[in-house]
Amino acid sequence: MMEVQRRQSRPVFVGGLQIGGGAPVAVQSMTTTDTADVDATVSQIHRLEDVGCELIRVSCLNINQANAISKIKARISIPVVADIHFDFKNALAAIDNGADMVRLNPGNIRVRERIEAVVLAAKSAHIPIRIGVNEGSLPPLTGGDEMPEGATPKLRGEFLVNRMVKAGLEEIQLLEELDFHDIKISLKAFDIYAMIEANRRMAQLVPYPLHLGVTEAGTVFPGSVRSAIGIGALLMEGIGDTLRVSLSGDPVEEIKACWEILRSTNLRQKGPTLVACPSCGRAQIDLIGLAQQVEERLKQLDKPLKIAVMGCVVNGPGEAKDADIGIAGGKGKGVIFKQGKIYKTVDEKDFLEVLMSEIETMEVPARD
Ligand code: SF4
Repeated sequence: MMEVQRRQSRPVFVGGLQIGGGAPVAVQSMTTTDTADVDATVSQIHRLEDVGCELIRVSCLNINQANAISKIKARISIPVVADIHFDFKNALAAIDNGADMVRLNPGNIRVRERIEAVVLAAKSAHIPIRIGVNEGSLPPLTGGDEMPEGATPKLRGEFLVNRMVKAGLEEIQLLEELDFHDIKISLKAFDIYAMIEANRRMAQLVPYPLHLGVTEAGTVFPGSVRSAIGIGALLMEGIGDTLRVSLSGDPVEEIKACWEILRSTNLRQKGPTLVACPSCGRAQIDLIGLAQQVEERLKQLDKPLKIAVMGCVVNGPGEAKDADIGIAGGKGKGVIFKQGKIYKTVDEKDFLEVLMSEIETMEVPARD
């Protein structure tokens, strides 16, 4: 199995979770509840924990939301990042209430003394700060920074990348001047070319871990594809220490998409991986229906097995030779194969149950 050489970043610790410094790429999401509604927020976080969320960000739009963090933390088992919008006092309250990290947007809190107050509080609480640069809320332009009249799309893209990187570097410099180095950075844009390029440049310029994401990526299906392209391209270059897929939908879908990206890039394995052929004129079984049923049943399974569901014996075992176990359909019958070798023949009516029974009792083979 091929793997990428990952960029070495300086680690930060968010609660008990290491991000960067060679740690596994961490999976995170953000709640959609009113943080001050502790029951609703905890309930949503529990659903996210169940599908593999390792770090959760909550909105701290006002003091009530910031004060709710201690109550939320008492009932969950993953670290909490407080997302600060405009008022630095909410960051101070979030830190007082045990936030494991605060996220500052360089475009939103502009007064140096206020940023300093947050940095000093984070330092004394021994928590890191995420500098979250977002295409939609960049700091105001300063003299000489204006985009030239009639700029081409290429120039506009370059201009956006420069602004994002500059905003991040200016905030990093401010924190470093205060001798604060527990920093994580994100540079998010809807335009995946800009997002990729901004992260590539930042990865060269500073040692801090990078949080990857495509902002406002859209609804579940198009947003997952867009995110997978932007985040996946960087991960394949070894860049990125944590990720969030931002979707207009249930945040549980964000976590599922994160894990699918990590599985697809061979960076992490959680639960089974389903290999399924697209079906074609050679298939003499309902391949698509079978694949969907297997996918549904695999949701209950946590074993990191690779499972293949193939439409025919002509290409089935060969196409799925890396799979741990699979099935290839034939006419009225099919073969179950293990590690690419035929294991036994099964009647079509028994495909699902026999395959699932084999999967459930199978040991996970040792990996190299
Ligand atoms: S495995 Fe068989 S049925 Fe599936 S796409 Fe390949 S040739 Fe077609």
